[in-house]
Amino acid sequence: MGGTCCTLALFEGELNKLNQKTVELPDLEEGEILAQTSCATICGSDLHTIEGKRSEPVPLILGHEMIAKVKKIKSEKPIKDYWGQTIKLGDTITWSVVWSCDECERCLDNLPQKCLNLFKYGHERFENSRSLNGAFSEYCLLRKNTKIYKVPNGIEESVLSPSNCATATAASCIDEVNVKNKTVLVQGGGLLGLMICAMSNFHGAKKTALVDMKQDRTEMALQFGAQDVFCLSDKISKNQYLNESSNNSFDVVFECSGSTEAMSDAMKKLKINGEYILAGAVFPTTKKSIDPETIIRKMLTIKGVHNYKPHHLAKALTFLKDSKDRFPYEKIVGKTFPLQEINSAVSYAQKGLSLRTAIKF
Ligand SMILES: [Zn+2]
Ligand SMILES: [Zn+2]
Repeated sequence: MGGTCCTLALFEGELNKLNQKTVELPDLEEGEILAQTSCATICGSDLHTIEGKRSEPVPLILGHEMIAKVKKIKSEKPIKDYWGQTIKLGDTITWSVVWSCDECERCLDNLPQKCLNLFKYGHERFENSRSLNGAFSEYCLLRKNTKIYKVPNGIEESVLSPSNCATATAASCIDEVNVKNKTVLVQGGGLLGLMICAMSNFHGAKKTALVDMKQDRTEMALQFGAQDVFCLSDKISKNQYLNESSNNSFDVVFECSGSTEAMSDAMKKLKINGEYILAGAVFPTTKKSIDPETIIRKMLTIKGVHNYKPHHLAKALTFLKDSKDRFPYEKIVGKTFPLQEINSAVSYAQKGLSLRTAIKF
């Protein structure tokens, strides 16, 4: 495409439906970049919004996992990427989903992921052509001070696309603990869990295990660094998981499932001095009480992880580059659709046959 117009898919609140719109391309202001989307992937959180399970301001352009080419730059000074490389027209880039101001008390407290002026690409209300901030659109307008990354060569765009969401969040989770020589359990085999599995293995965990309801996911985990898997829809495997003998056997447990059972399971599975990192239950769940006595007697550490810091996206991209021959990343994306078929892409993604569905432009 090109020219002066931009086609996009808008979520206007009607469930399971995105509507195509065309808008004029905006004029850029100082420090801004216009990026032309080349690939986007549909994240689980996009589906939650489309299905009405999570409320976002409508209308909005969904999608935040994306790879794009620099189409226009408006800046008196050169704009640099995270690594200090000058961003030029035609560069292939991704960027942090979270925009932070770098000035508020939370940013100054090294919590940019919880910035008081936080802006999230693909989560903001669409008002006019300056609101091009989601991935399901031919163009995206990058705000001044967006953390941008030139992507490594030699990796498929559809594999790179989720790096600014699931892969960077996985890097953020892994950053909370030292997994080297540890026994690690990952609860949930979605893309976040799978990437944590791969990183845990890559960073020298003694053993990495993964538990999920679905067999295709546990089978996939075996290809992404898990040595042990438990499939809860399989009776034998479920019994092995619930067996007392597997209690007190993990140094680290990562929660990536959003399941309310996961927390009480983790309390049992963790060893003395174990660490529990929660990242999956990022939507309202039933409030389950946990037993403080267990936390105290087992001296457990519990930590929540939400969003990520800029260096985690850098780590995610470096990890993909360093491990591309070790894990079959091409299996993450099942099918690819053009933007014009976004509703078919959403229906396909909802079937859950693959971890990601891609939109190619
Ligand atoms: Zn996402
Ligand atoms: Zn801030």
